[in-house]
Amino acid sequence: MEWCTLCNGINDEVLLCPACDGIMQDQGRIYDFYENYSPYMDIDLVKLEDGDPNSSKKNECVHLFKCSSCGVDIQKKIPI
Ligand SMILES: [Zn+2]
Ligand SMILES: [Zn+2]
Repeated sequence: MEWCTLCNGINDEVLLCPACDGIMQDQGRIYDFYENYSPYMDIDLVKLEDGDPNSSKKNECVHLFKCSSCGVDIQKKIPI
């Protein structure tokens, strides 16, 4: 299991909420929320993708961000 810069705490990039421009807070890597699933959760990951069905195979870490203002949450892929 590899870790991205966010997991390692060396990425202080601030993400702004697409809905209200509030500060999005990192909730951690999304795999932690699905730990009961197998690692081969490509079907679920494809929904997060930008149309490339193979992109879940790349080395990247998917994090869940939640807006501190309006509570909206988004998933963002962090390259490893
Ligand atoms: Zn990560
Ligand atoms: Zn918001």
